[in-house]
Amino acid sequence: MSSSRCKSTQSTQSTQSTQSTQSTHRPAATFTSCKSLCAVKIMKRTFLTVGSGLKERSIAIISCLILLVVILTCLYLRILMNISPVDYLLAATEGSPRQSITDDRLNFGARPQVQTRTLWEAPIIWEGTFDADLYDRTHIRNQSSVALTVFAVGRYLDAYLKTFLTSAEKHFMSGLRVTYYVFTDLPDRMPVVELAPRRSLKVIQVAKHSRWQDISMMRMDAISKVIDAEIRHHFTYVFCFDVDQEFTGRFGSEALGDSVAQLHAWYYNRPQSAFTYDRNPESEAFMDAGDYYYHAAIFGGVWEKVKDLADHCFLKIMEDKLNNVEALWHDESHLNKYFWLHKPSRLLSPEYCWDPHIQDKRDINVTRLMWAEKHYDSLRTG
Ligand code: UDP
Ligand code: MN
Repeated sequence: MSSSRCKSTQSTQSTQSTQSTQSTHRPAATFTSCKSLCAVKIMKRTFLTVGSGLKERSIAIISCLILLVVILTCLYLRILMNISPVDYLLAATEGSPRQSITDDRLNFGARPQVQTRTLWEAPIIWEGTFDADLYDRTHIRNQSSVALTVFAVGRYLDAYLKTFLTSAEKHFMSGLRVTYYVFTDLPDRMPVVELAPRRSLKVIQVAKHSRWQDISMMRMDAISKVIDAEIRHHFTYVFCFDVDQEFTGRFGSEALGDSVAQLHAWYYNRPQSAFTYDRNPESEAFMDAGDYYYHAAIFGGVWEKVKDLADHCFLKIMEDKLNNVEALWHDESHLNKYFWLHKPSRLLSPEYCWDPHIQDKRDINVTRLMWAEKHYDSLRTG
């Protein structure tokens, strides 16, 4: 806009200077007897023309300066609006990254009966240890957005998907922008689910593997591909879920972190010797020691970390296939190996994924997500 303005100013000036040249020549040629009078007139006119030229140039310069001041003021105001006083305060007092700002305020002593921090200082999120409003405010201000992936292949679609999605609409990351990525071989049978504002759903058609083990394992490949093709361009976080579950309480922004693992409800309070790691040295998932037993029904984090996890697990699954071995608990065994090699930065307590069949509920103050009934015989294929 400013360059076109300059162009029109230049052309106006050149027209004026041509006109003024013509008008200064004419009177001198016509009246020779009144030479002195004319000379005075000519001088006067020339002086006036030069004077008005100067005046116009000054006006143009002043206008440009005013425009510049307006533009600079606008830019300054925009910068001021982006950095709110709260951000100044947080940056000055607590430094970056932002995620750790709110974690500093976790109350690790609130649940003395359970472990609330790992040996590598990652928080384990239990009810009572966090301020839900503080996490929500921070993530809403940071405009955090979440992609949720879920697979409903074969008979799992009719059996579980509607309950999973409608309950997620009530409890999963309320207040944040969320898109559900549903992978299915039966897109025509998708249930109708009413979505809240700023929430959307995408259906991605996948082939149905003949063995249920492959349906489960090959999720890693599909997750990696959708992160690459879409999620990384639009979302901060990705959470990957089994479909055979129902949200029953807040599953909120306190669960978001760089790399998030879920403690398995059946093993969180068991000794390591009871963990069902893959103990076969032939498998890439082999482990003779570990930290915890994680549940593959939930994992998440920033998209970069989830992509790294999915790529790693898929590669190891394929290496096992080449060697004609299969890990004991399929993708879950590889996931456990990955989190042993690459420690998660955040752990979710079993309150985030609870099996109602477990009798001992003394540590469970709230159930946020519950395992649905399993009907392996009638639902699984292969
Ligand atoms: N899955 C599916 N169709 C199948 C088998 C598995 O869609 O026939 C997906 C579904 O999302 C399921 C996940 O893979 O939740 C893992 O399988 P499953 O829940 O049976 O494993 P489990 O929780 O018993 O370990
Ligand atoms: Mn499951």
